[in-house]
Amino acid sequence: MHDFVYKKNELYSEQVPIASIARAIGTPFYLYSRHTLENHYRVFDSAFSSIPHLTCFSVKANFNLAILRIMAHLGGGADVVSGGELYRALYAGISPNKIVYTGVGKKGDEIEYALEANILMFNVESPEELSLINRIAGRMKKKARIALRVNPDINPRTHPYIATGLRENKFGINIPHAVKEYARAQKLKNIEIAGIGCHIGSQIVEVSPFLEALKRVKILMAELNKMKITIQYLDLGGGLGITYDQEEPPHPRDYAESLMKELKGLQVTLILEPGRVIVGNAGILVTQVLYTKKNNRKNFVIVDAGMNDLIRPSLYGAYQKIQPVIRAKRKTIIADIVGPICESGDFLAKDRKIQMLKAHEFIAVMGAGAYGFSMSSNYNSRPRIAEVLADKNRFSIIRERECYDDLIRGERMPDDLKISEFGIRKQGLGI
Ligand SMILES: *Cc1c(COP(=O)(O)O)cnc(C)c1O
Repeated sequence: MHDFVYKKNELYSEQVPIASIARAIGTPFYLYSRHTLENHYRVFDSAFSSIPHLTCFSVKANFNLAILRIMAHLGGGADVVSGGELYRALYAGISPNKIVYTGVGKKGDEIEYALEANILMFNVESPEELSLINRIAGRMKKKARIALRVNPDINPRTHPYIATGLRENKFGINIPHAVKEYARAQKLKNIEIAGIGCHIGSQIVEVSPFLEALKRVKILMAELNKMKITIQYLDLGGGLGITYDQEEPPHPRDYAESLMKELKGLQVTLILEPGRVIVGNAGILVTQVLYTKKNNRKNFVIVDAGMNDLIRPSLYGAYQKIQPVIRAKRKTIIADIVGPICESGDFLAKDRKIQMLKAHEFIAVMGAGAYGFSMSSNYNSRPRIAEVLADKNRFSIIRERECYDDLIRGERMPDDLKISEFGIRKQGLGI
């Protein structure tokens, strides 16, 4: 369920007509519905209300501070994968004791920062990382709480780029190896074993891969028990999928029920790291038609948002539903919806059936709230676009559109390439 619906023939976000936002601030922009976000979080979190648990929103799905603040207000924690994400989560007011830090390549300064902040735990992905965390914690006279992120070797049956729990993936430590590492961790002076972590992939639309992973983790837990290692936190990661097209993912309640059944009798606090399922369908990308043209009988609709703004179609061949902001009774065409980037891979949709569109009309790319803005870039020197939050009958800009100055911020000329300010003006390059 989401709050982007037509009233008569005009698309609204909550009570705000989307065309009015587009006219006020220009295009393209990301638009989120606060109500949808809150509703998704509550539905997900309350599905686990009968057991001790912690919902840690996956910051990489959408890192906007206002969105993280909404999560904080709802009592949510955060799953972070870098020092930068940790900074954002803390800045947004998420309490450090609800933050878990995952990632195969944590650097020393990032580890130090997380120890300083006193986060809940590190999900450790290699023996060398475990040793480094122990050393840094020792230097800081602290004890680092850790889980080992295990790789359960499960096929999540999703796109290969977002499968993470297979033997050939770079993530985690395989289970036989993990037993040895836990034994070693037990002896490290500045390490406190707090849990086990696993995250098998993203956009998973069945419950069974999660259950298979959980079964393997349970076997490991039993083995650790024999070694007198008690696991307080069981972190099952994120990955629950959403409907982009025809997928029928399990409802969070069904997902929760299946997991909780499998967990019966275990004395653990469950940690979940949902990203996409919270924010994916709570956001859209609004873009404007610039031109339409026909090449060799193929229709192209050229819009002002490109793969640098939303890379999912180009990167994974992902399907994103596209709707006109104002629906009209016109004939439908089959067209490629493409951006302005100088790459043939720059498209939002291929061979898509859509109402005939004209220049200046607005279209909405649905299901763009997760891995949309957060994966955007400045490729082709395009300023990153604005983000807007709709809340009942109001909207606020939660991230300004970048300007040209933002594009060159931090760039420096070596001395021998410097031109005096006067020189630049004289050449007509000044602004
Ligand atoms: C990406 C990621 C998530 C979130 O995945 P979703 O599919 O968006 O729910 C959770 N945990 C870890 C470790 C991740 O890397």
